[in-house]
Amino acid sequence: MKWLFANRWFYHIARSGFAILTAFIVLQFPLYYLESYFYDLRVRLSPRHQVSGRVVPIAITPETIELLKRTPSPQDHEKLLTALLKEQPAAVVYLFPPKSKCDTQSFETFAKLAGQFPHFLVNTNDLIVEGQESEMLLPPPLEKIPVVFGPRTEDSDKLAGDGVTRRMIVTMYEDPQPTLHVQLHRLIDPSASEIKYPGIFQVLDSTQVLVDFAPRGTYPLTSFHSVMNQEFPPGTFKGKIVFVGLDTETEALDYVRTPFERGVLAMSVLELHANMMDTLILNSSPVRMPPYVNFILTALVALIISYAVLALKPAHGLFILIAVVVGFCLFAQIAFIFGHHLVSMAHPLLATFICYYFLIPYRLIMENRRSWEYYQKNKLLTQVEELKTNFISMMSHDLRTPLARIQGMTDLALKGAPLSERQKEALNVIQQSGQELTQFIESILDLGRIESKEIKLRLASKDVNVVIQEVIRKFDFMIKAKNIKVETQLEPLFSIRIDIDLIRQVFSNLLENAVKYSSEGKRIWIRSEESDGKIRVIFKDEGVGIPSEELTNIFLKFYRSKDVKNSKIKGSGLGLYLANYFVQLHSGTISVESGVNVGSEFVVELPTNL
Ligand code: ADP
Repeated sequence: MKWLFANRWFYHIARSGFAILTAFIVLQFPLYYLESYFYDLRVRLSPRHQVSGRVVPIAITPETIELLKRTPSPQDHEKLLTALLKEQPAAVVYLFPPKSKCDTQSFETFAKLAGQFPHFLVNTNDLIVEGQESEMLLPPPLEKIPVVFGPRTEDSDKLAGDGVTRRMIVTMYEDPQPTLHVQLHRLIDPSASEIKYPGIFQVLDSTQVLVDFAPRGTYPLTSFHSVMNQEFPPGTFKGKIVFVGLDTETEALDYVRTPFERGVLAMSVLELHANMMDTLILNSSPVRMPPYVNFILTALVALIISYAVLALKPAHGLFILIAVVVGFCLFAQIAFIFGHHLVSMAHPLLATFICYYFLIPYRLIMENRRSWEYYQKNKLLTQVEELKTNFISMMSHDLRTPLARIQGMTDLALKGAPLSERQKEALNVIQQSGQELTQFIESILDLGRIESKEIKLRLASKDVNVVIQEVIRKFDFMIKAKNIKVETQLEPLFSIRIDIDLIRQVFSNLLENAVKYSSEGKRIWIRSEESDGKIRVIFKDEGVGIPSEELTNIFLKFYRSKDVKNSKIKGSGLGLYLANYFVQLHSGTISVESGVNVGSEFVVELPTNL
């Protein structure tokens, strides 16, 4: 099982699987309301589009009723038809049965006039079932006028449930005839066919398309009374499809809600019919993307989000989430404006948020577990480290006394009775090894003091040059033994406040290293200077140098460069660690520049005003 979690591919497959599963589950929910909301938004944000110019709506307006002081009488309708006859429209469609608005009077002449149009129709919202056509006929004398099914639709509970009109019916399975608008389209374009419309889809027992809505007022309404009184430019209705309807602002039934507006009087049914007609004439109904495209898009965004959440930092993950949401919305809008393609938005966006909110807690749990493990490991390491330091300093303490005794006895033996050359040599070796051991023990004890934070600065005024000279004197024997030449260039300095013992230890380490890592006969330069409120002490040698990739490590505890470790030169790897620590206690810095077989230059900077 463990190898499975260690395998990189397992995580890729798990993430892809999660994304696909999320897409699959999300797509099981129709989300009509949300989808319709995004659809309306896209419609509203699209630039205004063209009209075919083949449709003219004539409206009975509040002004018409005010001018006539009543709803139009049969005679008014006759006048309207007389005026229209002269114009030779392609078709005239009454959106209401003429008699319904003035039933007490005679419609004989109206019927005759209507008969003279090549196509005079009355629209109905009721389905005309085969064999029951006679029931739908208008009462005499209007029975000869064809009544054609061309209903308005509203999104009921089965769809978005918000009562907005978005679709139009193209065919009903129970009716062999296509609906009013398809029939009218054929008058203009005989090749038009109800099966050729782009974006056609099935709803229950009908085929439908989405209406390509234009905002209210895109089709200017010609008023009933102006046509009746022949107050219109000649040719206004020639060869056009004329809809006669109501825009009296009195009955909610004469109006529909549209993607642009949700108010009760958002758009008159008359203007809706003009929109429906133009959708067919211009072949511009929006086309829904096939389900597999929606699936791919949903899975893709889910995949991007799962990678962003699990693999990136939280802030970057959030940024990617926002970028994906904005990018996807832009993509959907562009596809709608330029291709009239309708990409499902609700599903991919829902998938995005589901992925984000499911995976964030998962990530938090994982991170929490990891940091708990780190904490435990760290705790253990600290305990081990403490134990180690305590043990070493205890050992060192206990070693110091016997060592001092050995050194004392060696001194005594050397000064005492006459010795042979071999005995003298042996005692000298004992003495030197004793010194090395003492120095090592001192370093270990210093380290212990640093780690238990025991070291406190004991500041006193001192000329740094004096300390340098003391140190040079201390290593005089070692310098001479290697035939090394030390050149000093010490600028006269004022005394500054330092912990003399610690700074002496720093300089001692730097000079000792310079001597230790230089071969016989080389030179060492020691310089001191003051500038910018700082005292700078420089130790430069012509020794073995330090490889550049190790430069950053030499100040670490127990670090010795690889070449040196394999050589005979002895050392603990603690000197520079301690020197760096002591200089930092003085708010100073220590830096190095070095080249292999060229030499090294260590620079100590101490503030003058500590
Ligand atoms: P060590 O006891 O090994 O000298 P230090 O902490 O003093 O420990 O130095 C760490 C390492 O830095 C040394 O092991 C050596 O590799 C390198 N180093 C320090 N000073 C010099 C120098 N002057 N020339 C070359 N290498 C040096």
